[in-house]
Amino acid sequence: MKVISREHITHVLSKENLPCETIRSGEIAVFETYDCFTNRFIPEGTDYYNTPKLPGNPATGPVYVEGARPGDMLKIDILDIELGPVGIVMLGPNNGNEKEFFPRRIVKRVPIRDGFACYNDRISIPVRPMIGVIGVAPAGDGVSTVTPLDHGGNMDCTQIRKGVTLYLPVFVEGALLSMGDFHGIMGEGEIEDCGLEVEGRATLRVTVDRKWRLAWPMVDTGDKWITIASRDTVDQAYQAAARQMYVFLTEKIGMEGQDAAMLMTMAGDLIICQTVNPTMTVRMEFPKKIVQEYNPFF
Ligand code: CA
Ligand code: CA
Repeated sequence: MKVISREHITHVLSKENLPCETIRSGEIAVFETYDCFTNRFIPEGTDYYNTPKLPGNPATGPVYVEGARPGDMLKIDILDIELGPVGIVMLGPNNGNEKEFFPRRIVKRVPIRDGFACYNDRISIPVRPMIGVIGVAPAGDGVSTVTPLDHGGNMDCTQIRKGVTLYLPVFVEGALLSMGDFHGIMGEGEIEDCGLEVEGRATLRVTVDRKWRLAWPMVDTGDKWITIASRDTVDQAYQAAARQMYVFLTEKIGMEGQDAAMLMTMAGDLIICQTVNPTMTVRMEFPKKIVQEYNPFF
């Protein structure tokens, strides 16, 4: 099992990045990550104004996956996500739905103990660890780790969590997988720009997959198929996420178009992942039970 240490970070997912490690298809790897602020606010007494500014969203990697070629997918089984002892929430004037109320940046340290985010002595919330940034190198120019697109990246999807399988399309040889920006917990929509930002370790099995050959990220939670789309606006993102599910159900599962659309409108859920990154992310969830009842082969 390879451990990818966080001395290897990047802020751009790019085919130009040299891999820091190579793994075989099917191998288990551990990625160690900083929080999205590169742990800048972890020490007691630090705040936005008394610490040096650093680029956001460091992603650990990239890792070269042997045998991955353009047109394949990476099948990423998320076996575990471990969190550091302190998470950070920040408010400020530049982003978030309530930004006009916070002309000065406010940083709050939230201890994580025994599976709870301890906001104060009255409020503690069970953590729901997730990976905010996970992606491969895109085909063309490099893309900042703050921007999600079809190569993955800063999708901030709560369903990229322990126990699920994430599929990412491969655009370049070796795929060049990187990740970071873990959240201890995050509300759907990430409405004020942050989750509970935390350092961590993710244990994953990474396999080259040629079954689905999709051009967008998908998640298999065990009971749901999920398409994830990131576009310039929420409208464009939700239309893309729904269309991706329609194409998946018709072209991959073999549903008649009429059945796919009727079943989607009856049983598919459209959910906003995040509204605060340079592109917006929306996902569509569809029950696997219906897929299996339609076509037992799946
Ligand atoms: Ca993020
Ligand atoms: Ca984040």
